[in-house]
Amino acid sequence: MAYRPAFRAFSRSLSFFRQLPSSSYFSYSTAAAAELPLAASSPIQILRTKAEVRHWRAAQTLAGNSVGFVPTMGALHEGHLSLVRSSLRMNDKTLVSIFVNPSQFAPTEDLASYPRDFDRDVALLSELEYTPAETPKRIAAPEANVDESVLRTTTKVDAVFAPSVEEMYPSGIPLAVSEQTGAFVTVEGLSSQLEGAIRPQFFRGVATVVTKFLNIVQPDRVYFGQKDVQQTVVVKRMVSDLCYGCAVVVVPTSRADNGLALSSRNAYLTDQVREDAGAIFKGLQRAVDVYRTETDAGKIIAAVVETVAEKIPVEEIEYVCINDLETLEELERVHPLKGAILSLAVRVPNSFGGKTRLIDNVIL
Ligand code: AMP
Repeated sequence: MAYRPAFRAFSRSLSFFRQLPSSSYFSYSTAAAAELPLAASSPIQILRTKAEVRHWRAAQTLAGNSVGFVPTMGALHEGHLSLVRSSLRMNDKTLVSIFVNPSQFAPTEDLASYPRDFDRDVALLSELEYTPAETPKRIAAPEANVDESVLRTTTKVDAVFAPSVEEMYPSGIPLAVSEQTGAFVTVEGLSSQLEGAIRPQFFRGVATVVTKFLNIVQPDRVYFGQKDVQQTVVVKRMVSDLCYGCAVVVVPTSRADNGLALSSRNAYLTDQVREDAGAIFKGLQRAVDVYRTETDAGKIIAAVVETVAEKIPVEEIEYVCINDLETLEELERVHPLKGAILSLAVRVPNSFGGKTRLIDNVIL
């Protein structure tokens, strides 16, 4: 773990950030272990087992339907729904998974208290639909002689995959990595910096569960949010290196009115903290402004820190970093033709008397 004590020593001095080419500084989160959602009554098919999903997938293949897949941990919000809408737009059939994946939580993290509301999630998904604005051109040709209104079919979420932990980890899944046995997927070189430095088992857990899902669902397209930018880099690399045939589609971050990136964990926060946390995106936007005339990473990062620190104590800023878009290498200068990821993590007080980590990013 790459804790940088130098940050603590100097954290009260903003001038410190100006001396940095780019920077990272760290700490933690909390909790124990929990269990699963119960069934809901809904028009959406609820699939519980790998066999049911494989059966569903085979039917789509036979029917010639493309399949979009949106993996989530539930507690759905507009951010998740924007991924689902993208899938509805681009695919004949959409499958959403709801599974709180234990292997990406450390024993000290919030697996037990992670928000779960399966019935509400399914109700939200049931309300979504997409109707193409135009009849597809290839079918709409006048000579096709068909009723075009019939072809403008509305798509809705077809199925939810909500497996049990046993279904996904038949041999069990202790949270401590040292106690785990069996097959896990690690994407080397991309999993130990940024979020991976604070949560060393996180991307191994993510890569493992995404691998399982891709093998079960075999989607044509899989959807991830820009909000978790390192996750998108890890998954894209994994999909490429392990020769999966699906496309990875990255959907822009959905935000609250004050710019705060939507997150299931925002439910842990008071209204006041949520309001103050608007400073995070303000800081990122300020950095984007600075980047118009400045490529020095230290100066761009300083702009973020100064703005965020107006509302969040500077010692609660875990890292602000500028990294290469594919290799995640830390950059001292942003190459204007290549761009970069500017990402951060901060800790804010939550309603339970502890701290909640918030992450965000923009692409420069
Ligand atoms: P989670 O349920 O937190 O694992 O998130 C499931 C998917 O939703 C991931 O691909 C996230 O990146 C994505 N996601 C979460 N929050 C947002 C957001 N505010 N905007 C866009 N995508 C998001």
